[in-house]
Amino acid sequence: MILEVKIGRLDYEAGHFFWQKAGKVVKNMAKTSLFGPFNVNTESIDTNVVGVGSGVYALGHNANNNSVFIVQYVGRSDTDLNDRLKKHLNEGYLLFKYGFLETAKESFNKECQLWHDFGEDKLIDNKIHPDKGINKDWLCPVCGE
Ligand SMILES: [Zn+2]
Repeated sequence: MILEVKIGRLDYEAGHFFWQKAGKVVKNMAKTSLFGPFNVNTESIDTNVVGVGSGVYALGHNANNNSVFIVQYVGRSDTDLNDRLKKHLNEGYLLFKYGFLETAKESFNKECQLWHDFGEDKLIDNKIHPDKGINKDWLCPVCGE
């Protein structure tokens, strides 16, 4: 059951593609469009990621006086986003952002978009393309694989 959908908030953020010139943003930045960031700990996850459902998340940290969220890792859960986030409790990531999505397929599409937007295996910690799990007929909306 999906209890809430918090996709859509556009924060001032970016992955490593972010660059500035004379203090002004001169290039379009990638945006996660996810809710947060929040601290990576059990209490924070339970307070913010309420309900059981599929969704995506990004792990990372703030930079530039908290004006930029640096994405270090992206992931998804097809069934239970809250539970999935807790697998990352002791990996050294400070903050997370998240969004519930209506279906596992939507979550896969969003995870793919995040992975490609934020630098693929070169710039974030995910070294392989988002996994389809048991859904072998799904195609990445970005690269088609
Ligand atoms: Zn792809």
